[in-house]
Amino acid sequence: MSIQVNNISKIYTSQKALNNVSFEVGSNEIVGFLGPNGAGKSTMMKILTCYIPPTDGTAKVCGFDILSNSIEVRKQIGYLPEHNPLYLDMYVKEFLEFVGGIYKIKNCKGRVKDMIEITGLQIEQNKKIGALSKGYRQRVGLAQAIIHDPKVLIMDEPTTGLDPNQLDEIRNLIKSLGKEKTVMLSTHIMQEVEAICDRVIIIDKGEIVANDETRVLQKNTTKQIITVEFDKQVSVSQLKEIANIDEVLHVNGTIWRLTSLSKEDVRKDIFNFAVANNFSVLTLNKEEQKMEDVFKELTKK
Ligand code: ADP
Repeated sequence: MSIQVNNISKIYTSQKALNNVSFEVGSNEIVGFLGPNGAGKSTMMKILTCYIPPTDGTAKVCGFDILSNSIEVRKQIGYLPEHNPLYLDMYVKEFLEFVGGIYKIKNCKGRVKDMIEITGLQIEQNKKIGALSKGYRQRVGLAQAIIHDPKVLIMDEPTTGLDPNQLDEIRNLIKSLGKEKTVMLSTHIMQEVEAICDRVIIIDKGEIVANDETRVLQKNTTKQIITVEFDKQVSVSQLKEIANIDEVLHVNGTIWRLTSLSKEDVRKDIFNFAVANNFSVLTLNKEEQKMEDVFKELTKK
């Protein structure tokens, strides 16, 4: 297990930011830590990277305890914090050599060259960081996070503020890093999780409300919502008899909204019901509820 979190709580003076949080992340997994603003994502990441201690509970990174063995934990972790703090007056290469020096990396210049290549910084490598676009600054942030070849990469909202092209590039970079590292990234963007992550942990008000493989969550949470208009009045009890219909809502007149959790397409059940009862279906429209809606449902106030 790369990350093991056991019953972590964090209280900032009077504010409880995390409440008894436990989860695990396996080697080479890419896990999305998802939650609305203020859910406790950054706090969890700061605890795992030994920036702040928990009020209660324990956590291990690559088997090392965050409190009793924090130096080892820091060696195992690459961290890209929120707002990516960089020295804007330093040149890209100069900055990366400076970071490499802190980690006492042997053949630092060679390693910096490799990092520049991996993160696609070649054309910008001789510029000052302050002159770079947000996408390239994120690359510098990623390069500094992986320069010591950590086993675990922790990134706090790594794609916030990027334009669509930069977004794709950084996501692809994260995905390729995830092939040989354990990656935990926080985001409040559902599509990001769907695009990059093997697993998603959803946190709300300091508590975990979902923890599943992305595809399982996607599969289990897909709902069909059918809006149907009949030619005559139908009763709720009649509609509830349709196979695979879980919820019935009257919209107006002869229009109904039917919800189904079935994996089968329920439109044919509705059609069969209409034929059997001598109704005509005037309109029928199917929507599928996506993970984004699930996130909203799990984290709504
Ligand atoms: P997220 O990263 O999910 O947006 P945070 O971990 O930053 O959430 O914050 C969780 C809660 O803890 C929020 O209510 C936030 O206001 C509070 N919080 C975060 N840092 C501090 C701090 N240094 N002092 C007091 N409260 C804090």
